[in-house]
Amino acid sequence: MLFRMLYALNRWYALAVLWIYIALFVLAFALMFIFPPASLAMVFLGVIGLGVAGLAFKAMHAAQSALVRRMISRGQCPLCSETNQYGQREGQFACVRCNAVFLDNGMEVEASRDHAFAS
Ligand SMILES: [Zn+2]
Repeated sequence: MLFRMLYALNRWYALAVLWIYIALFVLAFALMFIFPPASLAMVFLGVIGLGVAGLAFKAMHAAQSALVRRMISRGQCPLCSETNQYGQREGQFACVRCNAVFLDNGMEVEASRDHAFAS
């Protein structure tokens, strides 16, 4: 459950941050004519916020990798929670049921993602 939430969050995080920044850019542009100091402050807050967003991105990916490693060590697929369906080959874990493939370090092999929530 926790992994599924983190997985979805990690998947959409970068796009969400992009759209938030685009919306704030439009707001800052409008504020330039109404109250210029606010748009100037938003520029600096935006730069600081980008650093915070980057750190949050790294932290969430580290947490996801740790959860994946823990679930794999229990023989459980992180995506479909199927147990005893896991095969190990050359540092990879491949789920027989949903075709998800994870590396030893907890990173997911991208090509496997299409079938992740098939069942
Ligand atoms: Zn699976």
